[in-house]
Amino acid sequence: MRCFFALLCLILAASPAHAARLVAVRTFTAPGQARLLLELDPGEESTPATIQTRASPPLGAIAARGITWLGGVELDADLPVEVPVHTDGVRRVLLAVVGAGVQVTVELDQARLVRAEQIDPRAVIVDLLTSADSGSTTDGSKTGEGSAPPSAVSDELPTRAQLLAVVQGVDLLRAAGGARKTRPVVVLDAGHGGWDHGAVGPNGTREADIALQIVLRAAVGMRQRLDADVILTRDDDEFVTLRGRARIANQAKADLFVSVHANAAFGPQAWGTETYSMDTASDRGAQRVAARENAIARKEGLAEGDDLLAAQLINTGTMRLSRELAAHVQSAVCQRLGLVYGTQSVHDLGTKTALFTVLTRTQMPAVLFESAFVSNPTDERRLRAPYFQQTIADALVDAVGAWLDRQGDGAEESP
Ligand SMILES: [Zn+2]
Repeated sequence: MRCFFALLCLILAASPAHAARLVAVRTFTAPGQARLLLELDPGEESTPATIQTRASPPLGAIAARGITWLGGVELDADLPVEVPVHTDGVRRVLLAVVGAGVQVTVELDQARLVRAEQIDPRAVIVDLLTSADSGSTTDGSKTGEGSAPPSAVSDELPTRAQLLAVVQGVDLLRAAGGARKTRPVVVLDAGHGGWDHGAVGPNGTREADIALQIVLRAAVGMRQRLDADVILTRDDDEFVTLRGRARIANQAKADLFVSVHANAAFGPQAWGTETYSMDTASDRGAQRVAARENAIARKEGLAEGDDLLAAQLINTGTMRLSRELAAHVQSAVCQRLGLVYGTQSVHDLGTKTALFTVLTRTQMPAVLFESAFVSNPTDERRLRAPYFQQTIADALVDAVGAWLDRQGDGAEESP
């Protein structure tokens, strides 16, 4: 018996209990600057990672590099090893296991200073800055400490507080923003919440949780990249009625409304991404999806006929804009997923229409986005991955930005 306990203790001591894991990398760029958010799952022990940084100048055909090594951190299996960027002098980000840690290499058009700091057990920020003193360049041996003072971090890049909000799932920015008329007002609606879990996957993944994560991430992106006023129908695991969600958007006189969900089917086979705008159901499958998402409406005392009636009050111009928004969302998401995971791992189910209660009561262009199937084991695993959630969120920002640009270009060529 003593031997058994001794052995057990030995095993417990020898196996490090769930080391921290790098689960997502997010790149933000501005001219001459880049800021990376490295998201960690701290595991059981939230000891800070050992961080080393190194800059290397271009060498022949080899690009300049900014290298950050996180000691004691593992690499999440769902993360792609290469993330193409190609903006503001940043070519791509490469991830690799090096020694007892993860190396994050940023390929650059020219040498930059690298600074990295862990701001939370879940977050490391890496800054890649051109030196303020343009005469001096990094010589490959510097670590970013003690060399020429780098220029201040551009206000085009997200602040530490904003990045902290991303990893903490806290919507700090909502409190700060007051609606200004010149900025687009976007309402993001995380489906379900509270006692309404939405669909639940074979491994227990709850649609409500996934929808919230995607929405929180998209909100940060839309404020940063689109300078939009973003209003969330919920920023927590709380129950909001379908009518209540539409009311929030209508009262805010939002420019558009995006409801985020995860799909579910009876069997495990169905997988992929689809986006709905409001109209009578385009096919039987669309009808089933609407019936599932509308189930909560019956508890609110709304009859099925109410949706049709409400839908008839929406003018055709709004319906056309909703269809355009759905097309933007669908193509942006499939494009981003294809870029990150490869086109063979994208299942584009296209855009469809159905009578969703939440859409029939919003008075602005509105879509309902079904990110992936929580009922399919592969889709479910992806939905849980922060990197997948971020990729989807980035695509939603792309889509809304492109759609807003089109409205701005005076696309009002109605007959
Ligand atoms: Zn749903």
